Amino acid sequence: MQPARRLQQIPPYLFAEIDRKRDALVAQGVDVINMGIGDPDQPTPAHVVQAMHQAIDDPSTHNYPPYQGTKEYRQAAAAWMQRRFGVTVDPDREVVSSIGSKEAIHNTFLAFVDPGDYVLIPDPAYPVYRTSTLFAGGESYVMPLKQERGFLPDFTAIPTDVARRAKLLWLNYPNNPTGAIADLDFFAEAVAFCREFDILLCHDHAYSEMAYDGYKPPSALQVPGAKDVTIEFHSLSKSYNMTGWRVGFVCGSAVGVQALGQVKTNVDSGVFKAIQRAAIAAFQTTEAQLQALMQVYQRRRDLVVSGLQSLGWPITAPKATLYVWAPVPPGYTSTEFATLLLEKCGIIVPPGNGYGAAGEGFFRIALTVPEERVKLAIERMQQAGIRYC
Ligand SMILES: *Cc1c(COP(=O)(O)O)cnc(C)c1O
Repeated sequence: MQPARRLQQIPPYLFAEIDRKRDALVAQGVDVINMGIGDPDQPTPAHVVQAMHQAIDDPSTHNYPPYQGTKEYRQAAAAWMQRRFGVTVDPDREVVSSIGSKEAIHNTFLAFVDPGDYVLIPDPAYPVYRTSTLFAGGESYVMPLKQERGFLPDFTAIPTDVARRAKLLWLNYPNNPTGAIADLDFFAEAVAFCREFDILLCHDHAYSEMAYDGYKPPSALQVPGAKDVTIEFHSLSKSYNMTGWRVGFVCGSAVGVQALGQVKTNVDSGVFKAIQRAAIAAFQTTEAQLQALMQVYQRRRDLVVSGLQSLGWPITAPKATLYVWAPVPPGYTSTEFATLLLEKCGIIVPPGNGYGAAGEGFFRIALTVPEERVKLAIERMQQAGIRYC
């Protein structure tokens, strides 16, 4: 039996490959330090788990949820947008629940991209933008993210005929994998570009709360008039250590939200109502509770950055995300260096080119292992004589 042709164009999911290598090493008895996937190792905050315990005991949570999310959930999401960013969205027309952002990102392609349409995607990037373009039969136009531009795309480099045929523009700041951040002036440029060419700006805000040193990432919807052309993808996964819960929301343009909702109504049946109640508790996380969660990652970030600096790396600490994006030493490709770290040190890091061709020359470290394991990783690199140059 032959799977569909569309599956043949899809490259293997980056982390499926990395997991295979890890399993092989573990089977050989190697103590592997996995700084690969961006999956928080910390528990979900107690107040969220507690809300789940109560919700699951209530039988009214056990039947099918509303497709677009419960009214309480959409209202709580809208209230959070107001509180956190000063952004007003109508919970009835401009908010839809998602089974985590990955689902909503994919379904947005089905909602907007016809065969032959262009999709503007950053490179390096979260791999789903590229594969979902393929699933939808669209053409991706790659916007390289260059270090000298702070890993922000240059909209003026996009040919006009491509822009005219583009349906979606994807952005993600704070950024996976580069850790870069964007300010409101940049989002204003993106909104103006999308307005000029009638493109839906899709801002993947998976790391909105995962920031350090007092930095608070803005929402693209804070740009005046952004809501006409923008939808923003919010996820509880990273910010509240909730990757396994599968819950988030999309808000912004009513046209965008409604079209996404129409696809979802036909392919999924919503988010378990008990999880929506737990998510409402997550929206009520206090600033002090959030800072306590982020301190754990911030301390690891500082150890990774100072450790790599002590080995000659020319890097500075990222202000946000779960990642440190670092150049590979001169003379190596990304894959060669990631393989070296794996074989000589038992350290798993994804090579930068796994996020797109423009990621070549870099590797990504996820801040998902405890401090003593970070220290051990740096020690192993030092003992193996691995330095930047
Ligand atoms: C982790 C991640 C997601 C997916 O998050 P879920 O809500 O768990 O599906 C989306 N976008 C980016 C950039 C991510 O890093």
